[in-house]
Amino acid sequence: ACIDRTKAVDSRVGAFNSFDEAAALAQARASDERRAAGKTLGPLDGIPVGLKDIISVKDQPLTASSKMLANYISPYDATVTRKLREAGAVFWGRLNLDEFAMGSSTENSAMGPTNNPYDLARVAGGSSGGSAAAIAAGEVTAALGTDTGGSIRQPASFCNLVGLKPTYGLVSRYGVSAYASSLDQVGPIARTVEDAAIMLSAIAGHDPLDSTSILAEIPDYRAALHQKKGPWRLGVPKEYFGDGLDPEVAAAVQTAINFYKNQGCEIREVSLPHTEYGIAVYYIVATAECSSNMARFDGIRYGHRSTAATDAVDIYSKTRAEGFGEEVKRRIILGTYVLSSGYYDAYYLRAQKVRTLIRQDFIDAYKQVDAIIAPTSPTPAFLKGSHKTPLEAYLGDIYTIGVNMAGLPGLSMPCGFTQTGLPIGVQLIGQPFKEAELLSIAHAYD
Ligand code: GLN
Repeated sequence: ACIDRTKAVDSRVGAFNSFDEAAALAQARASDERRAAGKTLGPLDGIPVGLKDIISVKDQPLTASSKMLANYISPYDATVTRKLREAGAVFWGRLNLDEFAMGSSTENSAMGPTNNPYDLARVAGGSSGGSAAAIAAGEVTAALGTDTGGSIRQPASFCNLVGLKPTYGLVSRYGVSAYASSLDQVGPIARTVEDAAIMLSAIAGHDPLDSTSILAEIPDYRAALHQKKGPWRLGVPKEYFGDGLDPEVAAAVQTAINFYKNQGCEIREVSLPHTEYGIAVYYIVATAECSSNMARFDGIRYGHRSTAATDAVDIYSKTRAEGFGEEVKRRIILGTYVLSSGYYDAYYLRAQKVRTLIRQDFIDAYKQVDAIIAPTSPTPAFLKGSHKTPLEAYLGDIYTIGVNMAGLPGLSMPCGFTQTGLPIGVQLIGQPFKEAELLSIAHAYD
């Protein structure tokens, strides 16, 4: 059904960079055989799952939606891929993204943009726009995305889905192309909180191949959904409801807050006073780390190599000039600048200090509340081409980046529609490694 649906709609949606029908059918048949033979089935046995085209699948392309990796084939599985395989999932194609996950609209893709299934003239969000659009259009059942500053939660909110960015360290990053290593996390996008819980149980857990992966007990997140522990104390950060928040988004988020209030939850105003520095700090830290991670694309080891080059230095510069898109180049230059001698203390070091203060804001808020409830994005899905400057796009990340800088889990789920039928998402932000609680709070509403 997913194959037929993809063939019927994907020329309009543009969620897939590529798909290997034969490989998907072979995995599906293997699942049928396991079932027929009465073998124990995995929690995702036979379920078609889409993977963002930045997560390695052995013998499949991994383009990161970049010309740089247009012809690259992964020699190994990412840890999350291996775990999904062990759970029985069927991998169905490679899903579009902003090049190397840098963006909020999936318009920065060398493979062309992904369109929002709710309105094809609008963006699906980003950078995991292909993952969200593929589910919303009925092409896959669930998908994995990555979230460095909102890339799971914002496309989920634009496409009427549930998206979960886990606590930093809960899910392995091994085999996932790095954007900003201290912020990146892999997580699920799905139609329901329950589906997201099943997916998270499948991918979470310690991995010796990722040195930032945490040795933590992984609960059965799906079972935890039903252990009702509410009523909860929910914090509403006053800084997240100021200028720039679309009134229809504010009203829809308020209906979700009212729901919890009617359920007996205590709703408290909290303050995250360093929110106003979030965008500046994030775009210094993220670009600094990006400039370092992108250094590996040198035309020597793998990926694109310019044929116009005449010597070694020329190989580096021509390869990178030809291979990277505008936004990636902009970030490499910004990141190199903030790390350079003379500017390091003024920008990078200072940003790291303010990042600590942003994290402390959340820790202080959690002295009073169990979780935070807020908008995911200041606006619903915007029209393609409507961001005229990079800064306009960056400002849209205001409510999602704090979660990454503090390393916290964050979830977006549907909370209504605009009058014109565009989905709106509400965000729940939890305490570190308390995904079970976060998911059960979300499940109460979903
Ligand atoms: N929009 C943010 C950025 O461009 C976040 C992207 C992401 O989470 N990968 O950096």
